Amino acid sequence: MADLSNKRIISVAITGAWPTREDNPNLPVTPQEIADSVYESWKAGASIAHIHVRNDDGTPSTSFERYKETIEAIRAYKDCDICLNITSSGGTLGSFTEDVDEQRIKPVRELMPEMTSYDCGTMNWQDRTIMENHPRFLEKLGKMCIEYNIKPEIEVFDSGMLYTALRYVKRGILQEPCHFQLIMGPAGGTTATVENLVYLKSLLPENCTWSAAGIGKGHIPIMYTTIAMGGHLRVDLEDNVYYHKGVLAESNGQLVARAARLIEEAGLEVATPAEAREILGLTRHVE
Ligand code: ZN
Repeated sequence: MADLSNKRIISVAITGAWPTREDNPNLPVTPQEIADSVYESWKAGASIAHIHVRNDDGTPSTSFERYKETIEAIRAYKDCDICLNITSSGGTLGSFTEDVDEQRIKPVRELMPEMTSYDCGTMNWQDRTIMENHPRFLEKLGKMCIEYNIKPEIEVFDSGMLYTALRYVKRGILQEPCHFQLIMGPAGGTTATVENLVYLKSLLPENCTWSAAGIGKGHIPIMYTTIAMGGHLRVDLEDNVYYHKGVLAESNGQLVARAARLIEEAGLEVATPAEAREILGLTRHVE
């Protein structure tokens, strides 16, 4: 097997659930805009696209039809072999019941991306809402991922979520080797500091792969530190609508291009989607 230790994966979260066109008019909203942004990001060096969907007015959507339309628009770019990651976050579905569990899982199970996000706990999301992940939901999602061979991107917003993931590995709900996404900086989660990143990294199991994203002013320090510590990167408009303080990002591709430059300046290489699949052990279910 080729040595992939000098390869760094760039993941791009195209639009998320919360940023608005008022925050940044360049935010992709429609299925076609999301697909175009995925394509642009892939050309700039991204090998994983993390997908949320929106209604035409920009509000967060959880409609299966909307996911289907968006994924089809991305797959219509035939030369783009980017790995797809459909969120299971549930956005604004409100108080979560078993019906809502199914609404969150259905797009992943039926559209067969290679990955899905796996938010390993519940927390206040900024001062807006609750990011709710009932143990019942996490068990269902974990079992579905094993059954359908879809890799969880274990999103960790604080150390408690990381300990939960390790417990779920012991219980057989998550399978090793795990892939962790350390998301730092949203109000309600851990702050995006170098010290916190070093601490979270110290708790990770030896055999895992990991990536990190800093939101807001921690964006750049977390990116540099992650490169130095051997992690992969996530950069995008979901996490940061600004390129620099007071300067709006022009596109996801612009943020990805900067991450790619930093990786190369560090003497490393940007992983292609095929290399990302090998590093993370992903199975491509749909061409
Ligand atoms: Zn997301």
